[in-house]
Amino acid sequence: MKITDLSQKCPKCGCEDKTIKRDLDTEHHAHAKTGAVICSECGYVFKSKEECEKEE
Ligand SMILES: [Zn+2]
Repeated sequence: MKITDLSQKCPKCGCEDKTIKRDLDTEHHAHAKTGAVICSECGYVFKSKEECEKEE
């Protein structure tokens, strides 16, 4: 989990509160993630830092 993700504002609603879900996709365990950061307000799913860097 990247701690820096927790300081990002939600691009959709601007909320800074987040929920971290772990083992969200147990079905896709081969693609295992340490966790997903989800906006507590609107449910926006933040991407991992690496994925964000690709977009930018
Ligand atoms: Zn949001």
